[in-house]
Amino acid sequence: MNSLEGRLQRCAINTATLGHREPLGTTLDRIARAGFGGVAPWRHEVEAVGATAAGRQLRALGLTVTGYCRSAYFAAPDEAERKANMNANIQALNDATEIGAQCFVLVVGGARGVKNGLAGARAQVQDGIGELYIEARKLGMPLAIEPLHPMYATDRSVVNTIRQALALCESIAPDDNPMLGLAIDVYHCWWDPDLVSSIAQAGQAGRILGYHVCDWLPDTRHMLMDRGMMGDGVVDLQGFRGLMEQAGYTGMVEVEIFSAEQWWKLPQDKVLSVCAERLQSVC
Ligand code: ZN
Repeated sequence: MNSLEGRLQRCAINTATLGHREPLGTTLDRIARAGFGGVAPWRHEVEAVGATAAGRQLRALGLTVTGYCRSAYFAAPDEAERKANMNANIQALNDATEIGAQCFVLVVGGARGVKNGLAGARAQVQDGIGELYIEARKLGMPLAIEPLHPMYATDRSVVNTIRQALALCESIAPDDNPMLGLAIDVYHCWWDPDLVSSIAQAGQAGRILGYHVCDWLPDTRHMLMDRGMMGDGVVDLQGFRGLMEQAGYTGMVEVEIFSAEQWWKLPQDKVLSVCAERLQSVC
C-alpha cells in the first residue's frame, strides 16, 4: 500500500475539524491554500452563504466535495418533527447538488422518545431513507449512510455497524449501488469484530462512498467532542486504509475531528498543518 506522502490532493478536510469558528468562505480558502484536494462542509455553513455562492467558490478553488454533512434525523418522536426533518433533507439534497457534493451524508437519528424505542426508531429509519432515496434518485445525488458507534444509539444513530448499514442499502436499493451506500468512519467502526469482512462486503457491493479518519483517544473525556488527531490514539489507521483499498475504495481520505477542548482551541492553520503531517505519516 502506498503512503499518503505527497498526496494531500487525495485528502479532504471535514470543516468540523476546524471548529466552525469562521465563515465558510474563509475556511475553504484555508483548506485549499494548505494543499488539500477536498472538503466536506456542513449544512449550516452552506446555508449561511447560500449554496450557489458556496458552489461557485468550491469550483473556483478546485476542491472536491467529498460529502455534504449531514441529514436531519429520520427517527423522530412525532410525525410533525419527522415531516419537518424530511423536508429539510430534501432541501439539503438540492444544496448538495448545487455544491457538487459526491454524496449526502446520512446520520439517521437515535431511539430517545421514539415510539417502540430502538425497534421503532430502526423502522422509521428504514422508511425514511426509502422515502429520501426516491428524491435523491431524481437529482442523481448519492446517499451515504454513516453508521455511528453504538454509544450514540440513544441520541444520534440507531445504525451502528457497517453490516447493518449495508443491509439497509440492499433492502432499500437492491440494484442501485452508486445511489445508496456508506460513509465509513474509523471513529465509529474501529472496534467492530466483523470489520475486515464488513468492509470487504461493502466494497464488493460497490457501496463505499466515503472514508473518514481521526483517532480514538484511550482516555476519552467526552462522547462527542473529544476525538483524537490521527496518531494520538489506538486505531491502526494504516491497517484500516489497507482494508478500504483492498475493498476497492479509491476515493479521498477525509479528516473529521470534533475536539472542543483541544484542536478547536488552536489556530486553524496550525490544525491543518498537523492534519497534513499526520495524514502523510500515520494514515
Ligand atoms: Zn464521519
